[in-house]
Amino acid sequence: MNYSHYNIVKRQKFLRSPSRRIYSLLRIWLFRIGIVAMAFALVAGCFGAYGAYKGMIDTAPSIDSISVNPELFASTIYYNDGETKIVDLAGVGTSQEYAPISEIPQGVRDCFVAMEDERFYEHNGIDIRGIFRAAFSVVKDRDLKYGASTITQQLLKNQVFSGGNEKSKVDKIVRKVQEQYLAVHLEDKLEKDTILEYYLNTINLGNGAYGIASAAQKYFGKKVSELTISEAAVIAPVAYSPTLLNPLRDEERNRIRRENCLNNLLNAGFCTQEQYDEAMNDTEDVYARLTQYASLTKAKDTAQYSYFVDELIDQLLIDLQAKGYSAAAANTLLYTGGLKIITTQDQEIQEIMDSYFLDESNFPALVGQKATKADKAGSYYELSKNYALSIVGADGATNKHYHLNDLLEFYKDYRDTNKIFYHEKSSNPGISVYTTDIEALYELIDNFIEEKKADFEALHPGLKYTVQESRNYTLQPQCAMVIMDQQNGNVLAQYGGRGEKIGNRVLNRASDTYRQAGSTFKVLAAFLPALDAAGYTLASVFDDYYYKYPGSSETVANWYSGYKGLSTIRQGIWDSRNIVAARCCQAVGATTCVNYLLKLGFSKIDTDGSDGKSDYNVAISLGGLTNGCSVLEMTAAYAAIANRGIYNKPRYYTEVYDHEGNLLLNNGTESRQVMKATTAWLLTQAMIDTCEKGTGSSSRIRDVPFKTAGKTGTAHDCFDLWFAGYTPYYTAAIWSGFDNNFEQANTMYFRYMWRNIMTDVHKAKQCGAKSFERPSGITSAKVCTKCGKLAVEGLCDQYEGDKCVMDEYFAVENAPHESCTCHVKVAICSETGMLATADCPNPIIKVYLNKVETKEALEHGGTADTEFILQEDKNKLCTVHAGGEPIDPDKPLPTKTPTPTPTPAGGEEPTT
Ligand SMILES: [Zn+2]
Ligand SMILES: [Zn+2]
Ligand SMILES: [Zn+2]
Repeated sequence: MNYSHYNIVKRQKFLRSPSRRIYSLLRIWLFRIGIVAMAFALVAGCFGAYGAYKGMIDTAPSIDSISVNPELFASTIYYNDGETKIVDLAGVGTSQEYAPISEIPQGVRDCFVAMEDERFYEHNGIDIRGIFRAAFSVVKDRDLKYGASTITQQLLKNQVFSGGNEKSKVDKIVRKVQEQYLAVHLEDKLEKDTILEYYLNTINLGNGAYGIASAAQKYFGKKVSELTISEAAVIAPVAYSPTLLNPLRDEERNRIRRENCLNNLLNAGFCTQEQYDEAMNDTEDVYARLTQYASLTKAKDTAQYSYFVDELIDQLLIDLQAKGYSAAAANTLLYTGGLKIITTQDQEIQEIMDSYFLDESNFPALVGQKATKADKAGSYYELSKNYALSIVGADGATNKHYHLNDLLEFYKDYRDTNKIFYHEKSSNPGISVYTTDIEALYELIDNFIEEKKADFEALHPGLKYTVQESRNYTLQPQCAMVIMDQQNGNVLAQYGGRGEKIGNRVLNRASDTYRQAGSTFKVLAAFLPALDAAGYTLASVFDDYYYKYPGSSETVANWYSGYKGLSTIRQGIWDSRNIVAARCCQAVGATTCVNYLLKLGFSKIDTDGSDGKSDYNVAISLGGLTNGCSVLEMTAAYAAIANRGIYNKPRYYTEVYDHEGNLLLNNGTESRQVMKATTAWLLTQAMIDTCEKGTGSSSRIRDVPFKTAGKTGTAHDCFDLWFAGYTPYYTAAIWSGFDNNFEQANTMYFRYMWRNIMTDVHKAKQCGAKSFERPSGITSAKVCTKCGKLAVEGLCDQYEGDKCVMDEYFAVENAPHESCTCHVKVAICSETGMLATADCPNPIIKVYLNKVETKEALEHGGTADTEFILQEDKNKLCTVHAGGEPIDPDKPLPTKTPTPTPTPAGGEEPTT
């Protein structure tokens, strides 16, 4: 056969001609007779065979009700530019890119016809010869290998019978019969080319490619119209088995099939000898091109969806259900509805984040190994708690199951001479799930299995058995990060775990795990409510001294030893002072604070006290939560501060269009003002300090014309470590911790990661000078930082403790009007340290704190203020030089007129 244009047209005419109709009817009858014959052969004279056959036909969908149009289309996910594809969500029978038959070269069509259905252009939907072969194979109880599935049938199988994944053989036969029946009718309804077009646009061609156009892209980076016969012959065999014949998985097998394909083409007259030779000569080259292109696109085409896409899918399923779709319908629509999904993901930012999370040197080195650039070692392999071993006897009744505890028990006396296992007490014998040498641990597990097999054999001699085991490990600590655009809540990038992601919808630590929040909550659950709702200011003072939670004996410690005394909220933020936050929260009231957390989008705040505990307590100010919070929630909450107090619900996509291009979901920004703009700006000022001189300085983005604001967080023995921060451009939170709570030795690496990732992001986005926009309603005043009131010249500035006069910003309504009340200026007798009288020699002026410390505070070491307080025993007139008037410290000290030396009588000069 040759494929000149003339011949094609002639053939098409033939296909539509009346003679063909008659022929077709004849074929239908022939087919029916064939089927009957087959059915009879199958059940050898069984009376009801035809009845059974008829039943199958009667229950078949009617030809008018079915559609073989590729109405199932893969959905495509795009980056936030709306153009660059991230990935396709494809299900069975979907077409990713639609290619009309006119765009598919004849040679490409022929490759498929030659491989799948040689007599496609001749038969009428079914291939009689094939049917008998199929009947034969069923009788012989072999796989339906010679299913004689014509292209028409395969199209029906994919589009009408959901890909034909029947569980039982009977169902399979029923489907086959119905498929054949419909195939004949379909051929009456549609032209050959239409059938072929639908078929070529929907078949699964491996590697997530559905349809020839998308396969051409996936394997060769080409348009389908540019595919050569040589290339099409690589792709065509994949239709038979998308896994086994996938050229990227098994090139050898594919090569053999490709050669078959080309031979079939030549033998059937579908190509000329020259075309055949050309394709055969291209063999080495075509696979080289394939491999080269695959390696180029490997990063983008990994079989796994990213953490971002995983979360996006979750969100889309929720939103579609909110629109009225059932869970199943939402799922079907998402994978086969041909949706166009515009996400908020920024390719550049995500790629920067990926590069850091995939580079193991950014994480703590394994304990005992040389530290990486992440400074301090601190990583372990953790054997999964789901470790399981089953020895299953062939009798089906004799089983033995072992779990992690059995393994640990087995090795309870093991002596770890190489110190590869981590124990709380290093002298403990036995093995632990935390190890620095996974190979060694695995070797021990292998031994354990051998022992258990030997036990089994001894107990059940001669019984055959199989061994099933589930073992895996995770590197710890784990880490997760989210970057968001604070202006609209767009999640730009996220990473949900350390290292390479294995599997879809796996544990997503960025958005699906909830952890203790630590000190990041000081701002959110104490200082923010204080400033916003309770009239406090950045200069408001809380006393950092011995503290117990109200109604509890639990004390609160600081990250530094001792207590720093009277501290402003600003200091509480940048120096992360625990007791300042706790006292602040207590003063504001936990209920008010919890209400702010709810407004800030924390979804797992426990407001139900029915079980005797809830989050309505002061511990929330230090991030002690019943259920914890996610990295995503943390990022969104801090983004609200970065965004002038406006909280934007985080979003993963902006629009979803259906296959016809209609807007299906419009995910606009969902915003609410959760705090005053002034509150947000003031908190930002304090959090800039955190990054410039406080606990967050290692995360400050260096050498840029804008500031970094942020807050560190450490919860419970370093189980959870956080940094949440922002610039005028972006907000991001990062978390580090062991999946199963465990103390972390390296408390810094994630802060460097935050800084490095954010540095690269701002550089890539060419972020120039920008400041945090100062809202109206801000004023400033010179204040005394020991009481938060206006500083008094000549008083506060002469205090001998900390420097305590500073220019502070205030919301106009909360600006102080009263002058300092905490300082007291006194004249002191330099001999006794008591208040000086006119009789004291050399009195000096001193400024003290006018503060009383409780006995309890003093018993616990007092505070940094203690030595600057005018203590009771000194706060009285000098007892040694008693009698004189008290000295007014505000008046110039009396200049002591030197006691006149008695002049000797006679006017003699004094002797010198
Ligand atoms: Zn003062
Ligand atoms: Zn003061
Ligand atoms: Zn004195």
